[in-house]
Amino acid sequence: MEKKNKCCFCQKNIVGGFKDIDLKYAGYLFSVFKSGLECSECVKKKFIKLFKEFGEDLIIKNDSGININWHLFTEIEKQARQGTYRGDQFIAMKRILISLGILSVRSEGNYEIVESVGIRLNPSTLAVSLYFTQEKDAILYMQYKYRNSQFSFEIRKIGKVIPSHKIF
Ligand SMILES: [Zn+2]
Repeated sequence: MEKKNKCCFCQKNIVGGFKDIDLKYAGYLFSVFKSGLECSECVKKKFIKLFKEFGEDLIIKNDSGININWHLFTEIEKQARQGTYRGDQFIAMKRILISLGILSVRSEGNYEIVESVGIRLNPSTLAVSLYFTQEKDAILYMQYKYRNSQFSFEIRKIGKVIPSHKIF
């Protein structure tokens, strides 16, 4: 059923359902999640504001494509974990990387990092692990996050995921 409610932010446009919307900005293509409370226009406006504030230092664009500043990301992650300082910035960075398709909430076909006893070391959002869509990003993330560290871990590519509804 299509929602006819007005947007919570502009009080003007019809909201519509939740979905991912494509947004081209600054030479990048983002896929931005739109909830059922806000209209596409407001989502785009807010995302661009977020990107201007937190995204420009996070992405290094060159001839070989998009590179992520994992050094910055892991520094902010460390500060966010130690307290509330930089918490907003860390949340924003994860959101930008999900929108760019660098990180994903989906595990199948993507990469996870597992410590020897099975503890997952991926970045997470709330309680949800985020998976790397590319091997090189998982490697760089670990190189910056655990510089000079001796403990052992593995980066694994998840080949197949069988959800419970296919079993029961
Ligand atoms: Zn709106």
